[in-house]
Amino acid sequence: MSNVLRNIPSVNDLLESPPLRRAMEIANRTAVVSTVRQFLDNLRHEVQTAATEVDLPTPAELAERIARWITDDQTPNLRPVINATGILLHTGLGRAPLAPSALEAVVEIARGYSAVEVDVDSGQRAQRVADVERMLRRLTGAEAALVVNNNAGATLLALASLAAGKEVIVSRGHLVEIGGSYRLPEVMEFSGARLREVGTTNKTRIDDYRRAIGPETAALMRVHTSNYAIVGFTEQAALADLVDLGRKHHVIVIDDLGSGALHDLTEWGIKGEPTVASSVHSGADVILFSGDKLVGGPQCGIILGGKQHIDKIRKYPLMRALRVDKLTLAALYGTLQLHQSRERVQQTIPLYELLSTSMANLQNRAERLAPQIAACAAIAEARAVAGTTYLGGGSLPMQEIETWCIAVRPAKGTLDGLAKSLRRGSPALFGRIHKDRLLLDLRTVFPRQDLELVEAVRRLTNETLEQEMVDRSPMPEPDIEKPSS
Ligand SMILES: *Cc1c(COP(=O)(O)O)cnc(C)c1O
Repeated sequence: MSNVLRNIPSVNDLLESPPLRRAMEIANRTAVVSTVRQFLDNLRHEVQTAATEVDLPTPAELAERIARWITDDQTPNLRPVINATGILLHTGLGRAPLAPSALEAVVEIARGYSAVEVDVDSGQRAQRVADVERMLRRLTGAEAALVVNNNAGATLLALASLAAGKEVIVSRGHLVEIGGSYRLPEVMEFSGARLREVGTTNKTRIDDYRRAIGPETAALMRVHTSNYAIVGFTEQAALADLVDLGRKHHVIVIDDLGSGALHDLTEWGIKGEPTVASSVHSGADVILFSGDKLVGGPQCGIILGGKQHIDKIRKYPLMRALRVDKLTLAALYGTLQLHQSRERVQQTIPLYELLSTSMANLQNRAERLAPQIAACAAIAEARAVAGTTYLGGGSLPMQEIETWCIAVRPAKGTLDGLAKSLRRGSPALFGRIHKDRLLLDLRTVFPRQDLELVEAVRRLTNETLEQEMVDRSPMPEPDIEKPSS
């Protein structure tokens, strides 16, 4: 073992190696030196504690490996990716991409100062959401509107300001959990409102709500089950009936729409998604939805409703903690402007461009790209195949969207290894594993990315695939502190 230790190169020798000299061009010298030290310390520790004799990589390999750490460390995880998962609203991949004009609005506002909270006519302080509010009223028919950080924030704020200390009646079929940490019962508890569950998972009738209403009731809440569906023997009270019931008993109706369709989506192949305007028309008092699902805008939560409710929410102290910044407002306004015309939505909002790409177009591209991908060194086989995908992002789970994919198999190693190499590649490429193939789904790939997609696969060699395997072996991937530069 001491022999092995003696064969570990010195810090200075390593620093002289070409890969680490190159690394010093991106990271500063102190950071590189400390990374090398840390790496060698960890390596010594591993050699000493290993149960069996370990084979030391050559000094050149060690230098390469340390250099890769340093480069990886200088590259943020938050990077552009080609989304070939087929999931149009992929929360992990940032949900909706922004329309070019929305993007330009962000750049213009971010670059310098802007009239975020001041009225240009009077020079007086003004509501920061005034423009967006006007546009939302026009698009939906709502009386007033407000925008906060996201829909979870919108729900929390609405419940806290309108129902804290009182009861909110929710159907057992509507107690949703949305990816990760959002669970309606927990948000409700945090808001200070008391959840009063009624009905059963599959059936809740208007009478169930009626029987639960009492002096403690502040609101009836409906939640659009946007990320699951209860099928079969089911029944849920209609929104209009909830509104009638609410009016009769002087309690408000909160409608959490989740994805917020501003248009009838049947033409885009999506059926049964309630529109925001229909919820307003039914008379719901407060309506909640996300800005980065079917609106196709930036992350935010939109609250619509009667003026008295919106004013009350606006004045609630938590509002300040959840308010959105000027960049979000610029992006949202830019997106909402496009929603004034269905045609422009389809032509300019990326989500709708992708949704309306014809099957013929997808098939053509899949058949053209498959042989190019099959010819790549790291790929054993690539075929164009028709398939099915979903909208995703907590939206419309049962809503199947037809698509074309390129189904690939790696020349070496596992499917996971291939998927990982592609994610870490340049550009980063995300596919989805289905059975024994990695699918590169063109439903979510912009035509301008086709060449890049092939290039990303071409860059993978058998060595990169092997390297991924080596990287996951016990030798040596010690934790290091991030070089501070
Ligand atoms: C997505 C969703 C939420 C959470 O919205 P975020 O904008 O992600 O905070 C809440 N409720 C429903 C019904 C949803 O679909």
